[in-house]
Amino acid sequence: MTAYMDHKDLTNDSIDEERARQIADGVRRTMDAVASAEVSSGREIGSVKLLAATKTRDVGEIITAIDAGIRLIGENRPQEVQAKAGGLAKRLLERGLTLGKDVPFHLIGQLQSNKIGKVLPVVNTIESVDSIELAEKIARRAVMRDMTVGVLLEVNESGEESKSGCPPSHAIDLAKRIGAMGGLELQGLMTIGAHVDDERTIRAGFAHLRRTRDQILASGADGTEHCTELSMGMTNDMALAIEEGSTIVRVGTAIFGPRAFI
Ligand SMILES: *Cc1c(COP(=O)(O)O)cnc(C)c1O
Repeated sequence: MTAYMDHKDLTNDSIDEERARQIADGVRRTMDAVASAEVSSGREIGSVKLLAATKTRDVGEIITAIDAGIRLIGENRPQEVQAKAGGLAKRLLERGLTLGKDVPFHLIGQLQSNKIGKVLPVVNTIESVDSIELAEKIARRAVMRDMTVGVLLEVNESGEESKSGCPPSHAIDLAKRIGAMGGLELQGLMTIGAHVDDERTIRAGFAHLRRTRDQILASGADGTEHCTELSMGMTNDMALAIEEGSTIVRVGTAIFGPRAFI
């Protein structure tokens, strides 16, 4: 278990008024920022989905964000998916909403193969698939369960060693092979923006991911026809990502405030 999980009860679902107001304001501000980036880049309003990145946040904080309008959530760690899923599902049902349907659940962090069984029953889409080996293991488990799970191919566009993701030069080949696997639906590509100040560098990575997605779709290869999503953009670079064609921005800090744990 990650250390912070010993310090914070992630299943807590009561939240004080002040904190609830902060989160509701964060959701509103972030939705406004997404909408104005859509407008300024000439894109249709509503073409970008806002995913709340909920790592380190408890059930009460996440439900507050959903009450303020969030309809897509993403966790980094399988342990957190498992710790929160029950409480989230219960609170959502009280609101007439179903987790995984009205509020889809994505895994956006690294997945070790021994944790696949933990997340498969809960998440709709795994955004962090970056190798054939991992894709094959997920596919095998999904087929065993007679289900199909969405996947995004994660690409390391910045080349930074600290980041996961396949090399950009392998992305098209990997996407075609993943698309052909039973039990998986290849829904698009994901990347984490370069950790630099230079806007042009960040933008170039996002633009390259978009061109890669376009080439995969144009290939017409079996199983690539749903490869439409571009999950790119976080608190600090979401406007750039939207200008470069993002369809999913993953935002934590701008919604919930700074994280007390990593
Ligand atoms: C934490 C995280 C985010 C959100 O980051 P913020 O800077 O807090 O918006 C997005 N994507 C991934 C993969 C993350 O781990």
